[in-house]
Amino acid sequence: MVNDQMVNSMTTVILKPHKDESLKRFHPWVFSGAIARIVLDAAHSEPAPVEGELVAVHSATNELLGVGHWQIGSIAVRILAFGVDSLPSDFWTERIRAAYKVREALGLIRPDNNTFRLVHGEGDFLPGLIVDIYAETAVIQAHSVGMHLHRQEIAQAILSAVPQVKNVYYKSDDTLPFKAPIEGDKTGWLITNSQQPMANEFWSMENGLSFRIDWLRGQKTGFFIDQRENRALVERYAAGKDVLNMFCYTGGFSLYALRGGAKTVDSVDVSQKAIEIVKANVQRNFPRQSNHRAITADAFDFLNERINAQMANDQMVNGKWYDLIILDPPAFAKHRDAIKNALRGYQRINAKAIEMIRPGGILFTFSCSQAVDKEAFRLAVFSAAAQVGRKVRILHQLHQPQDHPINIYHPEGEYLKGLVLFVE
Ligand code: SAH
Repeated sequence: MVNDQMVNSMTTVILKPHKDESLKRFHPWVFSGAIARIVLDAAHSEPAPVEGELVAVHSATNELLGVGHWQIGSIAVRILAFGVDSLPSDFWTERIRAAYKVREALGLIRPDNNTFRLVHGEGDFLPGLIVDIYAETAVIQAHSVGMHLHRQEIAQAILSAVPQVKNVYYKSDDTLPFKAPIEGDKTGWLITNSQQPMANEFWSMENGLSFRIDWLRGQKTGFFIDQRENRALVERYAAGKDVLNMFCYTGGFSLYALRGGAKTVDSVDVSQKAIEIVKANVQRNFPRQSNHRAITADAFDFLNERINAQMANDQMVNGKWYDLIILDPPAFAKHRDAIKNALRGYQRINAKAIEMIRPGGILFTFSCSQAVDKEAFRLAVFSAAAQVGRKVRILHQLHQPQDHPINIYHPEGEYLKGLVLFVE
């Protein structure tokens, strides 16, 4: 029997009939359109739940479905735990420990690899939370106000669950919704137990290569951990090749190509700050090598310039073309309504790359736009190949790595896709 007192001890969201089905299949989102009514807890002075508060979710027949964070927007609740109406006291430690154990079991935590994603949102049953580990430091990003409100507990849980972590940095200035004013800082140290935060250079190791990580000023949490396995594949193909790493950021693919024995590597990015870090990374890992160039330029300008120079000189194999090109642009479509333009963007950039690759060359091409699915991306690359009129075959189909898992009940978690192409 449901006692009114109990229902009212916590805000309860009651769904419309049949809207409980996806939750029963463990999809963690409740859309606002699925809600029939909301019973506010006794303490509420506002007419609606407060963004970020924990709410219980019930079916139309009053069956308890789970507890999650309330949000303003089309996703109204993100479920943290199914079948209960409150979080157990060890909830954060248990979830984070479980995430750590998976990374450990996958062999990602080694002396030569202390860079990995510890928590990948819904993929680790913690919707709205990202945690990346760089040596002794964890960098947290909250994508929901609910996670923001729990940031201290999350930081403590990371400290107790992950032996290597001594410092926790919080970096949510770009990721939190701004509709509601929120308490507390969106960026800054939550825990500092080692000297590292005071130093101005932070180094982290990925597969035996050292990377300078600037989580304070860098993009995302400071590094794109999601390309680790794909970089290792570039290393396998790099020997003796002239390589172009376009959209290189801090040079992840470039370092693997150099270690793989590339003849030359050109790293190009529009961000001067990123290019400075590329130089530092190459210097640290390959101090004696002189076959790397770091170039600050816009991708289209750079490719057009090279293509035009090649046509003017009619030189086919003289350093103006590459044997291996990596294209890893930023998300061209951040929202569904931008998909058309994004696809045109992918087609244009891929056509340029295919045009300037040497016969028998290899193109690694990626899209990290969640809104552009695998098929659409492949179609854009197909159109690019057809436009240039070269014979192109798919060698590999790539995706996000094992520390960015996709919850099978939440296919929206799939975002990174790549194709490795052989260009005749
Ligand atoms: N491949 C990188 C991640 C790329 S992120 C890695 O492995 O770490 C996308 C990069 O594209 C960012 O560094 C951003 O500065 C750069 N970028 C964005 N627009 C660009 C443009 N028009 N031309 C060149 N680089 C651009």
